[in-house]
Amino acid sequence: MTGPVLEISRSAFRRNISAVQRRLAPSELLLVMKDDAYGLGIDWSVPEAAAAGVTWFGGYDIATALRIRALTDQRVYAWATSPRAEIAEAIASDIDLGVGSAAYLDDVIVEAGRAGARVRVHLKIDTGLHRNGFRPEQWREAVMTALAAERSGTVAVAGVWSHLAEASDAEDDTAQHVFLDAVAQLVDAGGSPEVLHLTASAAAWWRPELRGSLSRIGAFCYGIRSADGPPLDGLSLIARLTAPVEQVDADAVRVGIGAFHGLPSILRGAEIATPGGTRPVLRIDGASMTVASWEGAEVGQRVVLFGPGSAGEPDATALAERVDTVGEEIITRLTPAVRRVVID
Ligand SMILES: *Cc1c(COP(=O)(O)O)cnc(C)c1O
Repeated sequence: MTGPVLEISRSAFRRNISAVQRRLAPSELLLVMKDDAYGLGIDWSVPEAAAAGVTWFGGYDIATALRIRALTDQRVYAWATSPRAEIAEAIASDIDLGVGSAAYLDDVIVEAGRAGARVRVHLKIDTGLHRNGFRPEQWREAVMTALAAERSGTVAVAGVWSHLAEASDAEDDTAQHVFLDAVAQLVDAGGSPEVLHLTASAAAWWRPELRGSLSRIGAFCYGIRSADGPPLDGLSLIARLTAPVEQVDADAVRVGIGAFHGLPSILRGAEIATPGGTRPVLRIDGASMTVASWEGAEVGQRVVLFGPGSAGEPDATALAERVDTVGEEIITRLTPAVRRVVID
């Protein structure tokens, strides 16, 4: 008898990618793969996405970008501010770097000079999120420094980017104005960025007018919809979490997955799919949970905790909504005790 399994579907991933590409066109997809591809695994998904025509990949940090680089020759982007030794490795592996502070820009220029290479940078304008990025009042100086480095051969200003709050349309509109203003300043100063990118999944999907030439999408490619957001046409969750029935009692069934596998114990009450239809989870313990019984329950049967919905199970976002978090969190918190199996 096997334990809990997270089944991950290559064909669902391919369908999602092509639905996203169609929806975004002519904006191009940059597939975001932080947290080991949202907990679903970089090793299989990079080659799969490259075969499906993805030409840009994003790794957040340089360590992830290097793992992606080992699997594809397509453009790889890393935007975490990183130490000098890592910058050097990124330059040696032709990683595009997101740069959002003067100190980091200086480090990148120094390392490119030492390597005798031209590093592709994407300058980040802070459009209101205040997480990272040049403030509008620092932008002119950042542009001057980057373009001087471009003329001396250490830098290519390949892009301008920012990140939206996605909290309200009005805020995102304001952010876009700040963004386009920054782009105009760069172009006036003689820059010619290849790509402009501002939007992640939700804004890119619902607000075409905000898209740049590139859209950084993670969640929707894996079929993870926004919390409290509507279902997404043509997209489905690419992962299905199942666990075995271990014991059948008079009116309840014990199932072999619990809090130690990474499930929040406050998921109690969720309706999951069993061979007898959906049933509520009554209790979550360390290594197991108790589920309301069904007719014909037997040891060895499997229940579906989340998935694309084909058996009536919730998706990861529906579970997340019960505990006030996001679908990504439900998936990435599953521990290595949950076996990952990639199927077609
Ligand atoms: C995670 C991330 C994304 C992707 O966000 P999704 O909502 O998963 O599409 C895009 N851009 C940045 C900077 C990110 O950190």
